[in-house]
This record gives sequence, structure tokens and C-alpha cells, in this order.
Amino acid sequence: MRTRINQKLGQFVILVCSFMLYSPLFSQNSKPYFQQEVNYKIAVRLDDSLHMLYGEVELRYTNNSGDTLHFIYMHLWPNAYKNNTTALAKQLVRNNNSRFQFAGEEARGWIDSLNFADKKGALTWDYHPEHSDICKVILREPLYPGSSTTIATPFTVKLPGDFSRLGHVGRSYQISQWYPKPAVYDREGWHAMPYLDLGEFYSEYGSFEVAITLPATYRVAATGVLQEKEEKDWLNALSQQNYSHYPKGDSVSEWDKDRIGKLKTITYKQDRIHDFAFFCAKNYVVRKDLAVLASGQNIETWAFFKPDTQSAWKKGAFYVKRAVEAYSEWVGDYPFEAATAVQGALSAGGGMEYPMVTVISAGASPEQLDNVITHEVGHNWFYGILGSNEREYAWMDEGFNSYIEARYMKKYYPDRTFSGALGLPESLNSTYDVHWNSYLMATIHSSYGYQIPINTPSIEMPMLQYGLLSYQRTAFLLNYLAEYLGQETFDACMHRYFDAWQFKHPQPGDIQYIFEGVSGKKLDWFFDGLFNTEKQFDYALSRIKREEHSFILTVKNRGSIAAPFPLYLVKEDSVIKTLWIDGHTGTVEIHVPRLEADQIVVDQGYFSPDLSLRNNRISTRGLFRKAEPLKLKLAPGFTRNDWKALRVHPALGYNTADGLLLGLMLHNYDIQGKKFGYFLMPMYGLGSETFAGNFLMKYDWFIRDRSLKKVRLMAQYKRFADYDKIEPSLNFFFHTGRIDHKKHWLSLSYAEIMHRGIEARFFPSSYASTRLRYNRTKNNALLKERIQGGFTYIQSTGMKHWRAEAIYQRTDKLSKKSKLKSRLYGGWISSNGPNYFDLFSAGSPDVNKDYYLIDRVGNQKAGWLGTNMALMDQGGFMSYNLRADNYLFSLNLEYQYKWYFHPYVHGLLVDDFVYYETGLGLSLGVLDVYFPVSSNVFVSGFPESGKQWAESIRFTLSLNLSSMWNQVEIQF
Ligand SMILES: [Zn+2]
Repeated sequence: MRTRINQKLGQFVILVCSFMLYSPLFSQNSKPYFQQEVNYKIAVRLDDSLHMLYGEVELRYTNNSGDTLHFIYMHLWPNAYKNNTTALAKQLVRNNNSRFQFAGEEARGWIDSLNFADKKGALTWDYHPEHSDICKVILREPLYPGSSTTIATPFTVKLPGDFSRLGHVGRSYQISQWYPKPAVYDREGWHAMPYLDLGEFYSEYGSFEVAITLPATYRVAATGVLQEKEEKDWLNALSQQNYSHYPKGDSVSEWDKDRIGKLKTITYKQDRIHDFAFFCAKNYVVRKDLAVLASGQNIETWAFFKPDTQSAWKKGAFYVKRAVEAYSEWVGDYPFEAATAVQGALSAGGGMEYPMVTVISAGASPEQLDNVITHEVGHNWFYGILGSNEREYAWMDEGFNSYIEARYMKKYYPDRTFSGALGLPESLNSTYDVHWNSYLMATIHSSYGYQIPINTPSIEMPMLQYGLLSYQRTAFLLNYLAEYLGQETFDACMHRYFDAWQFKHPQPGDIQYIFEGVSGKKLDWFFDGLFNTEKQFDYALSRIKREEHSFILTVKNRGSIAAPFPLYLVKEDSVIKTLWIDGHTGTVEIHVPRLEADQIVVDQGYFSPDLSLRNNRISTRGLFRKAEPLKLKLAPGFTRNDWKALRVHPALGYNTADGLLLGLMLHNYDIQGKKFGYFLMPMYGLGSETFAGNFLMKYDWFIRDRSLKKVRLMAQYKRFADYDKIEPSLNFFFHTGRIDHKKHWLSLSYAEIMHRGIEARFFPSSYASTRLRYNRTKNNALLKERIQGGFTYIQSTGMKHWRAEAIYQRTDKLSKKSKLKSRLYGGWISSNGPNYFDLFSAGSPDVNKDYYLIDRVGNQKAGWLGTNMALMDQGGFMSYNLRADNYLFSLNLEYQYKWYFHPYVHGLLVDDFVYYETGLGLSLGVLDVYFPVSSNVFVSGFPESGKQWAESIRFTLSLNLSSMWNQVEIQF
């Protein structure tokens, strides 16, 4: 628990005992553990006029495996920035970022001039068939187990602009993932991987000796220990220098004038690391502090930052110091001589970690900066020292790191609130503490039924799930595990893990092995259930019996993971006893001591990821033991386990049949998803003097481990002055690919529609409409695509008619600022249907009462606003509403350049007649206005008068409550 972290930890006894009990490197993998060693010597020159690196790398590769190697996979990651076909370029598009796609040649990057050779001469090598940022170097002779080879190559790197982790902005440089580097070879074989923005790395340990030549005016922050005394003295002097000495932009401080025009070569050395990065600019402010570990060891901590961010950064070196001390205490001693945080040139991400140096792009409040610095410094442990495969198991570094980071924030910012953690003013929301934030982030996907396993390779993770699962949910689960095991045992596990696996490549099974060994508890439910599957647990308190000395509780697990859970005995809102109950599936009876508790609650403190909070509480007396207090809330909010919210908002509407509508919106919708939802909008029409409204209810069944994610039963009742509609529906939500954002749903619905008043003159008094609809979307930065199909069958006394429709819609991003929107519609109807069931060029009369229309009865009280409102459901042809009683096809093209106005061309085929129109559209979010210019529906091809022109202007409003719901939820 985070509140207990100030207690002195008595972990040492357990540590020493466990050290002797468990052989360090045993795991389930049948092959014995080994790791390769790669030692580098690199010389590189930075040319800051061409933004180029000219380098030479010599690497000594030692094969410690039992296998004979014939080639080595080498990463050439600067090539990720080469063109639009690299894995990086494709991933950026998938994640809705089109900047790289439309970047000019000058902003791109690459690596070339390669000539791999061993001591005897040039080696054969070739690019990976698919990825130009991977190559395969063929060894001259087989590399036998236990032997080494030395490979060298020159290389030239063109530095890209601001797209990901490597690059420059002006003469501020961020040099990372920049040199030819062997892929990891482990028990599973080679791990060659193309560079990605979302999805990190996996590298071999070894030593680095890197000599950097660059203009003497640059201040450099780098991995490793700086060798040159003169440079060290300069940085030490800079760390004492007053802020007023710092120049703006690229210019050089008065202080450094004698360095202008000179080059310097500085050398960094370090062993037991797996990567090397450096960062440089001429105007970095340099600050220094000293971390002191419990062991007495001192570590220099440094901050390099831009002068204009000094208000937040002036304590940067102190934040590094504090982070180094905290992680050393909670995980294991920092093994290097120095740690640095540097403000980066690039905007990508909040920060990025490299051994001994971390780059931070976020320049926010001091508290947020402390948070990011701590996180990135923390990566020295999680991935730097404990070198897991980040690409495959992002949670092993991000999740463990986020857990310790949260502990740090809790210790140094104990009063942080939910809104404070989100960077909003603390005063906005004081109800929820920061722990609530982690609960929400950890459970939001599972609450909507869309959570994938945490242990999913990062290349298969959608961006949002990557963040929420690898970081937040894992950190939250580790906190839950610490609650269950006790903080001391948990910390002993962490130290044991650190000692056993430092400078090695741990895998998930290795962590489980250590946690089970040290704690003496079987943790399959945790490491397998909660990480490898989509399964959940959901304890429900269904019955309570009072006996003489105990309560007998009936507890049902509605999920399928037998996870332990905390049970709280509560009296007048304060906890009188907490019990940890062993996990179970199905229903069991539990005896708990009969104390003076008035309520018994599962996980009152939101420590576990229990799926539904609604069934976690039971009263020990009274009639309605499971009932929770209902609170009226005006603002949208979160689900809690102690009360239910009834959300109330005022509602306002208008249509020509009801006149002005006043009423309320009442619903139980929260930020988290829930299975049962209702949305009631009772209203009163001031014109019609009758009650009206829109009422919806839904129930969801979550289906896990399948592409069918959710089945929803929904019922809607709508009533307005001129009609009633009741419509139950069954909806199926699918997810196809995890990363390509393809989603689809299928809906089967049956509606009874009854008409009154004026509308009964146009429509029959009642009919039934049965519909099958399908909708599929795919979104990325370059293409937004939607396919819809529908079949409608309507029936009333003496008539039966059908209609089939299909729509294909796409938006292509053509350049940085322009888009082309296309829409193709086709509709067919059974012959001899009534007029209202025909197909319409400028939108139907809404036979199924799905849409909001100002004037659906044609009484023209709203004038132009009533008559010229169009629906984008059929033809999308705007200057005239033509009717087809057989078939209708249309093609709509709109070109958008930067500005809201966009020219359009629409074509229409109606029962053998062809029409066209051109015009200018105006998009304002939900409102679109269409101004016609020419069309063959006008006699001369153009509007004959201003009056005819004005009558041909149409607008659409996209407001549709029930489909809006499905839309919002399907975004997950
Ligand atoms: Zn991280």
C-alpha cells in the first residue's frame, strides 16, 4: 500500500534467506540460460552544418550460446526515417500521425557508407528483405560456442527532423538508436526488429568506448563516464555558472568565446550497458547534485536544460538524485557513477531512457517534470539493468517502472489529487485521490469489455491499450500484489529479482519464479490469469447470514480468475477490520468474525481490478441489504462502490410538431463502461402541450478471447407529438485486427412505429420495420474508411416492402493540408412501394425515425430551417430532393483544403436519369451547409434567381443519440 511506504522495510533477513534457497537463473525454458556479449569502440564526428554523423564502429562479438553462428543480424535503425515504406513510417500512419508521410527529403534520415569487415577483409552482407533498417552480416568462418569475432564498419548518418527518438531541431541534437548494432541472440534465437516509435528495444550487454568529435561550444550529455579532465572541469564550472550567462538559441555565451571555431574530442567509457546515446546543444544550462545511497556510495546527478525552462528545471539534478536514491532503496543499488536528465530537442513522447542518461521533452510544472524525470531515471533499473525484451513484454519495464514511480510520487506528493495527477488544477476535483486515477486507468478497458491481455507484444497493441495496459494496469496490479503479499515481502521479491537478473535478460516466467519463491505463494492467478489472458474477476456479495459468532457471506465470482481479494468490515464509514480472502471461482460461503460492522465490502479501497463495483457491498442488517444509496449528480463522473449515481442534466429541444421541448436527461452512464445502462429524456412540448421524450436501455454481455467482443440488447422508446416508436435491437460488436483499428458491428432490430396528427396523413397510422444493418470502419492517418449495408423490411396492414442499401465512404489525406472525401451510395427498393418508402436524393423522410429533424411533418412552421434540412442517409445530392421508386445511385466528392469551405461535385442516377451538381460546402462540426453553384436540375444549369439559389441551400445536422452511443463506445 502506498500509505505504508514510509515504514522502514525489514527486507534484509528475507533477502539473505532467499538468496541461499533458490538457484538464481533457473526458469521454465528448457535451454540453459546464456547471453551474448558485444563490446563496442565507436569514433564519431558530428557535422552541425549538414546535420550528419560520420563514424566508425568496431565491435567484438562473443558467442556464449551453445550454438554455432554463421551470421549476425545487425540493426541499422536510422534507416527507419528513410522513406514511407519503413515499419516506423507505417506505424506512424496506423497511429494517426501523417507528419512523416508528407515530410520533405531534407527532414528524412538514413544510414549508409557501410562496409562490414573483419580482420581479414570485407564481409558479405545484405539488407533484410522487408526492413531496410535491419541487415544480415555473413561471418567469414562459423562462430563456435565460446569464441569471438571482431567486425568493423564505417557509417554515415543523416539526422532526421522531429519524428521519433533520433534527430535534431536546428542545432539541438538527440543522438539515439544511431549506430550499427547486433540484434539479441538468446534461447529463442535472433530478435532482429525494425525500429518503431511505439514499441521499444532489446539489446546485448557489453562495454562501450565512444569518442565524439564536435564543435567545442557544444555541451554534451551522454551515456558512460567522461574521460577528459578538461571537459569535466568545464562542465563542473558550467554547473556553477549564473543563469544570466546563458545565450538564447544557437548563439554562444560570452563565456565560451575562446571555444568558437575549435573542435573537441571527448570520450565516454562504460561497461555492463546495452546502449549508448548522447544529446548536445550550445545553450544547455548545466546543473549538478549528488545522490548518496544507503551503502554509502555517491552518484553524481546532472541536469542539462534550455535556459527558458529553468523555472521547472532548476531542480532537475535534485529530482535525478532523489529518483536514484528511491529506486536504489526499493529495487537495488544504482551501479553506475553518474545519472543525467537532459531536456531533449524532439517532442516525441514525454521522455526516453538510455543507460545513465534520459531525455525529457515535457517542459511542464516542476511536479510533472519531477514525475517524468523519475520515470525515465527509473528505466535505468527497468530495462537498463534488468534488460528484458521491451518490444515483446512492454509491461516488464514500463509497468514495474510505473509502479515504483507511483510510489515515489506518493511519497513526495502525498496530497496529489486525481485532477492534479492529470495536470488539471487541484481544486477541480478533490473527491478522488491519486490512487483513484490509477484504478480508473487500469480498469477502463475491461469495464467496456475491450481489454486485451497485458502480455501482448507491443506491435500488436493499439496505442491507447499500450499506454493503459503496459504502464497503468501493470503498475496498478503490482500495487495490488504488494497489498496482498505485504510491502515487505513484495520489496524482498523486487530485490531478489534485481540481484538475480541484473545485466541479464529476464523473461516473464523468471519474475513469477522469483516472486513465488520469495513469497512462498502460488501466483498463477496473477502472472498467468491477469497478464496472459483477457479473463477478469468480479466478486459479488449475494447473501449474508448472522450467526452467533460470525457472519456467513455468500460470495460469487462472476469472472473466471481465482484472485484473492480484500474484504472490509465497515462501521459508520470507517474500516474496523480488513481480511484477505483466498481466491475462488463460482460461489462459496465465507465465515467472517461477527464484529460490530454495519457493512461488509469487497475491496473498499479500489486496490484490485474487480470488474464490477456494483455488487461489492452488503449491509449486515436491514431489508435492502444490497441496495446502495442513490445520489443525484449533475456532472458526468465515475462508478464507485459506495453509491450509485443518477446523473441529471437539463434537456432542451425543438421541432415543428412539438414546438419548444423542455425536460431532463436522466442516466446512469459513467466514464467507465457498465453492463446495464439507461438513458431517459422525459420532455414536455410547449407547442403540442403533450409529453414527449426518448428512452433507452441496454444490457451488455462481454465475450472474451474472441473477435466478437460484446453482445448488446438494447430497447428504445421515442415519443413525440406526431409519432411513437418502440424498437428492441440486438447488436454484435467485433474487433478484427488489434492494431489496424478495424471495427465492425452488426445490428438486428425490430421497430413498431405509430403516427398521429399531421404525420398520419403522410405515413400509414402504423407499421413495423425490421432491419439488419452492418457497419465497418478502418481509420489511420491517411485513410478513414466506412462501409455500411442495410436491409429494411416494412410491413403494415395490406403491404410489405423491402429496401436494400449500401454506402462506401472514405476520406483520403492527400497532403499536409488537403483531403478528398468520397461517398458512394446505392439503394434498391421493391416495386410499387408507397412514396414515403422511396429513395430520396437529398435524404429520406426517415421512415425508421432514427434522426433528429426540425420539421418532419411538413407544416413549415420553421420555414427554411424546416424545409431545407437534409439527411445524409441516401443520395447526398443537395440542390433538389428527387425521388426514385426503383433505384438510386450517387457519388459525392468533396475536396477540402485547410479551410472550412470545400468545393463539391455530386452525381446522381435515379431511375434512368443522370443528374449532377457542383457547389461549395461549409463544415462546422456537426453542422454542414451546402451552397449550390451549378446543376442540371436548374433549367439553364445555374440557379435562375437569388430566391431559387437560397431555396437550394441545404444543411445537415449529425445528431443521433442511439447510434452516438454505439459510436462512442466502439472507439475503444
Ligand atoms: Zn517508460
